[in-house]
Amino acid sequence: MITRACISINNRCNLNCTYCHFHTPEKAKHLVDDNMDVYMILDNIKHHIDKYDIQVFKLGFVGNGEPLLDYDALRNYVMYISDYLADGSISAYTITNGTLVSKEMLSFFKSHKVNVGFSIDGIPDIHDRYRCGTHNEVMNAIKLYHSIHGEYPSMNCTVGRDTLDRADQTIAFFEPFRSRITFSRMIGSDGITLDEFHVFLEKAMQKLNVRTGGYDCTMYGGMCGAGINNIFYANNKIYLCGNCVDLPAIADASFPLDGINPNLPLFDRKKCYKETRQI
Ligand code: SF4
Ligand code: SF4
Repeated sequence: MITRACISINNRCNLNCTYCHFHTPEKAKHLVDDNMDVYMILDNIKHHIDKYDIQVFKLGFVGNGEPLLDYDALRNYVMYISDYLADGSISAYTITNGTLVSKEMLSFFKSHKVNVGFSIDGIPDIHDRYRCGTHNEVMNAIKLYHSIHGEYPSMNCTVGRDTLDRADQTIAFFEPFRSRITFSRMIGSDGITLDEFHVFLEKAMQKLNVRTGGYDCTMYGGMCGAGINNIFYANNKIYLCGNCVDLPAIADASFPLDGINPNLPLFDRKKCYKETRQI
């Protein structure tokens, strides 16, 4: 039963982070700007929730780009599901690179209970090296969030070789915020191994509230949840996850959620399904 989905509302970004695996030449040819009908997808999700009386459907407006580049459209999508957000049957979130955030946006998301997470790779030295020198901008956006919410937002940090070399400093950076941190494993040419990532996570968990565990994604320290209850919309298609847009789509975006059955072969869920396909 599908109870979680992410929608890539655009395939474009205003940054060009060094490690971004969405915009590598190999991935880029799989990302088309296809004017996906997000309202039709939201209708399908609402119908699915109603039909199966799903208590909480987790919906991410996240994908292969910066969602706030298309804030007006995103705002309309949020309004379109506002009843479901209000009664809690949809728990929605988005993740931003923090460069386009305004007070109006954050207040709007707060009033509709949409969680906004920020991508920040810890200390400025490391963040700026990989994320286009934007540490200051993201910190200002995070402070703005704090001024509206009275607490700090959830944050996402990509863990690469530099992070491992400066693990204590990275963990110390996040400690004062007391918010939930999602660490994700850097993949690609500068990537680190799963074992290295888990050693870092163990250390981070001693001091921080770290998202991990369950059938989710090995990139975040959990097990691979591909094909279980989670789907990813982009290019007018449905994929197993955001990292799998270069594998064949599992259905067209219009496909009803209860008809989706990726039927994956058995595999070791401690490993990434995508990577097991590439061995
Ligand atoms: S902000 Fe995200 S989507 Fe944009 S280039 Fe950086 S990693 Fe890629
Ligand atoms: S296939 Fe890989 S990237 Fe996709 S959910 Fe599984 S572990 Fe994560």
